[in-house]
Amino acid sequence: MKYIDEFQDPGLAARLVDEIHATVTRPWALMEVCGGQTHTIIRHGIDQLLPEEVELIHGPGCPVCVTPLEVIDKALEIASRPGVIFCSFGDMLRVPGTGRDLFQVRGEGGDVRVVYSPLDALRIAEQNQDREVVFFGIGFETTAPPNAMTVYQARRQRIRNFSMLVSHVRVPPAIEAIMRSPDCRVQAFLAAGHVCSVMGTGEYPELAERFRVPIVVTGFEPLDILEGVRRTVLQLERGDHTVDNAYPRAVRPEGNPAARAMLDDVFEVTDRAWRGIGVIPGSGWRLSERYRDYDAEHRFQVDGITTREPAACRSGEVLQGLLKPHECEAFGTTCTPRSPLGATMVSSEGACAAYYLYRRLDLTAQAQAPASQNRAPARPPSAETAPPTPSPSPSPSSCPSPSMEGSSVV
Ligand code: SF4
Repeated sequence: MKYIDEFQDPGLAARLVDEIHATVTRPWALMEVCGGQTHTIIRHGIDQLLPEEVELIHGPGCPVCVTPLEVIDKALEIASRPGVIFCSFGDMLRVPGTGRDLFQVRGEGGDVRVVYSPLDALRIAEQNQDREVVFFGIGFETTAPPNAMTVYQARRQRIRNFSMLVSHVRVPPAIEAIMRSPDCRVQAFLAAGHVCSVMGTGEYPELAERFRVPIVVTGFEPLDILEGVRRTVLQLERGDHTVDNAYPRAVRPEGNPAARAMLDDVFEVTDRAWRGIGVIPGSGWRLSERYRDYDAEHRFQVDGITTREPAACRSGEVLQGLLKPHECEAFGTTCTPRSPLGATMVSSEGACAAYYLYRRLDLTAQAQAPASQNRAPARPPSAETAPPTPSPSPSPSSCPSPSMEGSSVV
């Protein structure tokens, strides 16, 4: 397939791996902040091809995984109400809330529908004017523009029975929170190419300079990942910390101006809780005052719902790169894709699901062994380091999950 096969060429991959081996002289810890990149890395065994000095840490890059439990519970509450048609991408239906998921709400008679676009939900609203239609709007800078466009269209077309449950998150504040953590071992970032195709690269130079970390914009195919790692390691070895665009076939410095204008019109920046991590200041979007009538939280009065994370699940540590999935005691035993304890095992982009799907069960025993001697050390605390607001104390939750259905949040 054109533009795909070229970026999976085994010969070119071997050359890039050789170049990385020839470049690296000491341990480095790199974080990718994209679930799609995590899956490419694990699926193709890229982490196993790299020199043992290069550690890839899987950051909070899966939109489903970082959606906080209380937002899932708000979705469950709204979807259970009579007269509501609740529309969502398919991968949100299996994410456990407190005691149940959207599939179970559907099984109990709730009208929960899988859609492939937020505009599908708007069409459903047009066709069902005696019902309230709610779209579950989650994700990073990638899904935010079409969701913003849908709310814009609803207002323009005066479709009053449509609203959106919004839980959008932004990558740069998450990078800042990770770097401020006293436990942080991350020395460089592979920035997600699709996020930068929307937002451009303008938000990153300040972060690279302040925390003295290279940030390399990286694509999603195996050669993209290897090239991103190669450029990152090169910077680390030289002592550089610049923003480098290794995905120019999709990313321009200014991003997508039309998408950014739509975001600016419909959304405003807000503090947002990340599942398992806690509140990160300025890390999310909510509907701006002009579009507040379309905010499902206000329309259905569910703002007051609060929750506690399940005790057994350590996805907060996984999402911060402090724990590899196979190092969690529940991995592959009490927690599997069919019986997930946390969103990182449910989502098609979750790190725990990637480790489970791509044969990393054998690593579980090794996880009991002492940590690798080649791991890069934790960064020393500095004036810039302070932990993100901790999440609430956990409580148990698990449920069986049917197989994956329909569309996904990217
Ligand atoms: S393996 Fe399961 S319980 Fe452990 S962190 Fe991942 S999702 Fe949570």
